[in-house]
Amino acid sequence: MLMLDDQTRAALWPHVTETIEKYLTEIETARAAPLLDVETIRSTLAVCDFAKPVNALEAVDFVSGQLWEHLVHNGHPRYFGLFNPAATTMGIVADALVAAFNPQLAAWSHSPFPIEVENHLLRAFGQRFGYDPAKMDGTFCSGGSEANHTALLTALTNAFPEFNEGGARALSAQPVFYISSQGHHSFLKAAKMSGIGTEAVREIPLAESLRMDLAKLSEQIAADKSAGFYPLMIVGTAGATSTGVVDPLIELAEIAEAEKMWFHVDAAWGGGAAFVPLLREAALTGIELADSITFDAHKWLSAPMGAGVYLTRHSEILKQTFGVATGYMPRDAAGLDVIDPYTHSIQWSRRFIGLKVFMSLLVAGWDGYAEVIGKQIELGDRLRQGLAESGWRIVNRTPLPVICFVDEKNSSADFIEAVVSTILRSGEAWISVARIGQQATPVIRAGITSYRTTEKEVDGLVELLNRTRQQVLSNNT
Ligand SMILES: *Cc1c(COP(=O)(O)O)cnc(C)c1O
Repeated sequence: MLMLDDQTRAALWPHVTETIEKYLTEIETARAAPLLDVETIRSTLAVCDFAKPVNALEAVDFVSGQLWEHLVHNGHPRYFGLFNPAATTMGIVADALVAAFNPQLAAWSHSPFPIEVENHLLRAFGQRFGYDPAKMDGTFCSGGSEANHTALLTALTNAFPEFNEGGARALSAQPVFYISSQGHHSFLKAAKMSGIGTEAVREIPLAESLRMDLAKLSEQIAADKSAGFYPLMIVGTAGATSTGVVDPLIELAEIAEAEKMWFHVDAAWGGGAAFVPLLREAALTGIELADSITFDAHKWLSAPMGAGVYLTRHSEILKQTFGVATGYMPRDAAGLDVIDPYTHSIQWSRRFIGLKVFMSLLVAGWDGYAEVIGKQIELGDRLRQGLAESGWRIVNRTPLPVICFVDEKNSSADFIEAVVSTILRSGEAWISVARIGQQATPVIRAGITSYRTTEKEVDGLVELLNRTRQQVLSNNT
């Protein structure tokens, strides 16, 4: 029952690959944004009572049909969204191989090849960011949220030897950390999970550039010190989710160094800029000064979901943070110069996350990625220009392809919401409303995300926005 018979499998595998191939080649015919029809989905599922076995091929057809209907298709060429990828072909292959071989990456002796693949990749990424590959460490994670959680735990362990055993309640002073108000919400969860609480998160206002305001940061640090708090860490965001803006990394590194704080760079999406030399310089200079870095291969590298990376130039800190011993852990690798990943990670049983990244990179090469990322930068510039020529005002400045804008004449919240919701209802493209700055002003946000997006879709988006603007304005009069 669990391993299907030879005949069924012989029919099943080609059916699955045909289903995938159809999706990859015909995705453009789907709506980019789904209708949000909760009742239909629930009543479809209500029939699945698991009382009678379903034919395997029918099960594949049922699920793929539902996925076609009820999904934002991230891989769609008109998905101008958050940083969710159109999965690489090799990533799809790798995820199937991983499911089939199903390696367990907790202990080195159980998965020697997979673990060495991941170590090899971590060092290759570290080097791209400017770390010395011989003096660094890292771990693959479920995603950027886990990597950011890992960063906070390593910063705490580094600052407070008593944190490991005594926990947050044993600390001599309440630690606080600093992040721009445009930083990622995963740090709020990390603060809860580490036991220091969300009041420890100091959200620093933005300067006019939408980067963290350095003067406000210094004021807050001084105020915290005189009130008896312990300034623990500065988080620089390299590619904010809403605006794509990069905080001033070099200046943040200097402040962190002067105050003996941990400096973490959250480059979950923007880290992809490290793969294009000129772009690395324009966007990421200073990232090499970070004590730790978050990077998501499931964003700009287009690996299928769930490929986060945490990197650090402190080669001992992960072990100090996560090292534990258990009676049942395998010891067969004792004496070898290897690391058991579970002693360096939040996770124990762990999927072979790195393979989809490794196989994608093997086949595309650095140059293949540089070409795709470079092209997306160009498309971002083209979109900016097309919007500016059509009476839209760009409100963010970044070398990365995220464009936030409002209509020059109608920037009211209602108008912005109406334009975006009209486009989503049409299914013609996926864009979103972002709220930025101290007033959380709503703006329209469009990011170049899918490697399928070309000039045609970018020009089409400008045209769609212009058309929708007219429609919304005439509905209002
Ligand atoms: C996506 C993102 C995260 C969260 O990463 P997940 O992989 O979604 O958990 C954190 N920070 C930034 C800047 C991001 O873009």
